Amino acid sequence: MNNIQMVDLKRQYENIKTEIDKGIQEVIDTTTFINGPQVKIFATNLGAYLGGTHVIPCANGTDALQIALMALDLQPGDEIIVPAFTYVATAEVIGLLKLKPVLTEVDPETFMITPAEIERVVTPRCRAIVPVHLYGQCAPMEEILEVAKKHDLYVIEDTAQAIGATYTFSDGRKAQAGTMGDIGCTSFFPSKNLGCYGDGGAMYTNNTELAGKLHMIANHGQAKKYHHSVIGCNSRLDTIQAAVLNVKLQNLDTYSAARNTVADAYDKSFANLSWLKIPKRVSNSSHVYHQYTIQLTDATDRDKLKAYLQENGVPSMVYYPVSLHLQEAFKTQEFGEGDFPICEDLCTRVLSLPIHTEMDQETLTYIIETVKSYK
Ligand SMILES: *Cc1c(COP(=O)(O)O)cnc(C)c1O
Repeated sequence: MNNIQMVDLKRQYENIKTEIDKGIQEVIDTTTFINGPQVKIFATNLGAYLGGTHVIPCANGTDALQIALMALDLQPGDEIIVPAFTYVATAEVIGLLKLKPVLTEVDPETFMITPAEIERVVTPRCRAIVPVHLYGQCAPMEEILEVAKKHDLYVIEDTAQAIGATYTFSDGRKAQAGTMGDIGCTSFFPSKNLGCYGDGGAMYTNNTELAGKLHMIANHGQAKKYHHSVIGCNSRLDTIQAAVLNVKLQNLDTYSAARNTVADAYDKSFANLSWLKIPKRVSNSSHVYHQYTIQLTDATDRDKLKAYLQENGVPSMVYYPVSLHLQEAFKTQEFGEGDFPICEDLCTRVLSLPIHTEMDQETLTYIIETVKSYK
């Protein structure tokens, strides 16, 4: 079994090479590298896919989060609630804008922010919540939206890992991840579920006025060329990336299904292993398995398991080894060791296994047998 990868972008490309090459060549032939027609077409296509929301492309997922916060007219020191168990970008932009990240504990099974935690940390200075749809399924949005309404908070969804996941409300209404709050932020980083061939990102909103503002901020704060009404930034999706994304968006549902096939096989094969816990599936969200993340029991040494898998050609990754409240960069905040025991514990137990759109049966079986052979 040679060269198993966490994500197989090479094989994915080979399967769509003709269309991708054509799309990229068109951009080069017309030299419309910035704001070419493909960018608008992609925004329209993705908006339609998401059920008719406005899509504002930008340079990466981190920028999307930053621009979303910039659009809300917040004051320095305003508090933004964010889970401590996430990728750094979610909280980094809060600090960058001189806002105050209020980190929270997470649910030990879904690893996501909980409405109870939001209630516990909310103060009159809080202005927004940034739930993260971690690993590919939705945070408990119905309850989060209720808490937000009660305390008059904006909701910015970090949906960088969950594009294509759908959430079902108790009345049966379904919505795409990222379209339920005020603004949704996503990333097209190559290894994300809808990845381009470089950096890329986007914001979603159902609010037309907010869409205009996000557009303006991403474009140097100008509504009209060389007339700048607010301080903005320069954050664009390259036309070449939009061309790639236009091809890959057509395959997104097939890609999500392929990831689910892998996850189903893992679940079935690992459910009875006593030394690990398979990832929980929440009942009111579909899962797009950006990551398949197992939890090891106390008695299982993660480093040893990781080394064993590696020796046998199976890569694995730890997302995330350090909770945000213990990161050097956030040490100025009033958090310390022991403050979020669940996050700290998860950081020592989680292990993500290879999952991607191109996994063949032989590789899948090999990975499963290798994991099972550990103990
Ligand atoms: C990838 C990711 C981001 C940042 O996206 P970039 O495009 O790399 O800036 C933000 N939040 C989460 C949860 C992510 O996984």
